[in-house]
Amino acid sequence: MAQINNIGVYTSGGDSPGMNAAIRAVVRSAIYYNVGVTGIRRGYDGMINGDMFPMNRKSVSNIIQRGGTILKTARSEQFLTPEGRKIAYEQLKKNNVDALVAIGGDGTFRGARVFGQEYDIPVVGLPSTIDNDLLGTDFTIGYDTAINTVIDAVDKIRDTAESHDRLFIVEVMGRDSGLIALRTGIAAGAEAILIPESKTDLKAVFERLESGRKDKTSKIIMLAESGEAGDAFEIGRQIKEKFPNYDTRISVLGHIQRGGKPTCMDRVLASRVGVAAVEALLAGRRNEMIGLIHNQIAYTAFENATKHFVDVNPDFLKIVEILSI
Ligand code: ATP
Repeated sequence: MAQINNIGVYTSGGDSPGMNAAIRAVVRSAIYYNVGVTGIRRGYDGMINGDMFPMNRKSVSNIIQRGGTILKTARSEQFLTPEGRKIAYEQLKKNNVDALVAIGGDGTFRGARVFGQEYDIPVVGLPSTIDNDLLGTDFTIGYDTAINTVIDAVDKIRDTAESHDRLFIVEVMGRDSGLIALRTGIAAGAEAILIPESKTDLKAVFERLESGRKDKTSKIIMLAESGEAGDAFEIGRQIKEKFPNYDTRISVLGHIQRGGKPTCMDRVLASRVGVAAVEALLAGRRNEMIGLIHNQIAYTAFENATKHFVDVNPDFLKIVEILSI
């Protein structure tokens, strides 16, 4: 096992609150263990362009509470090609980077896995995405902040929904995952939840609206973006057609879900897995994501972490049904 002298750290893919806390943890623990640390800007694009700089204890001062990522993030077309990855490897060698911590979601880890197979460089990953859609960790960095942002917004929407007797369809993020919609739907007291994982179709929602209390005039339907049933505007159109007496409104929460100060949960998660990532590299581990399962550090091969099939708990859907009467 070759000695590690200089760890490169980067954030990649969609940003999520808590990435800065993760960068801080990696930088500070590398220094603690007397290892150099190099910041790589804009994920794989920065690696290819040689956009890297040495980091020290002060480079990560006063960032634990900030949303976004001081290293910036990007999606890189070039890294998808073997030629792009070859340049990235050469740049890392030029900058004396001999190990990597990747902070991102499933795409980031797919890239890290390929890279670790093609080149002899240890890579470990920190799960950081608002979607919580990785196997091998109970929660991903950013998810807790995002769901709290959503319920804060939906609580406000409820005030106006109640005052005007309106039905609101609230669309939240989650490209292929309904975990944000599912949890926030329960927390915000939604009447129905539409997510890609369950076969909840619009018919079931219609039935629920029909059989629901007639004296309950304000309603919230939570929807994960790009589910089978269509986007919020399509669903709104169909509800308006079927229930012309409802005053239906649509609210797409969008990018506010990615921003803001990370919650305490996300900062602690980022700090724990960040320290564990450096320790894992120094212990000779590679090609693994470092997560938390049942509050314990857990190592999952990139290959398994990115299977992208996270079961939704059917009890959660049942809870929505029971509590929305
Ligand atoms: P989020 O889920 O929050 O959007 P992510 O990490 O999944 O984050 P992606 O945009 O899917 O974000 O992936 C980030 C980058 O990883 C891509 O732009 C690409 O450069 C790299 N990548 C993804 N898949 C591969 C792959 N199969 N081979 C090489 N690189 C890849």
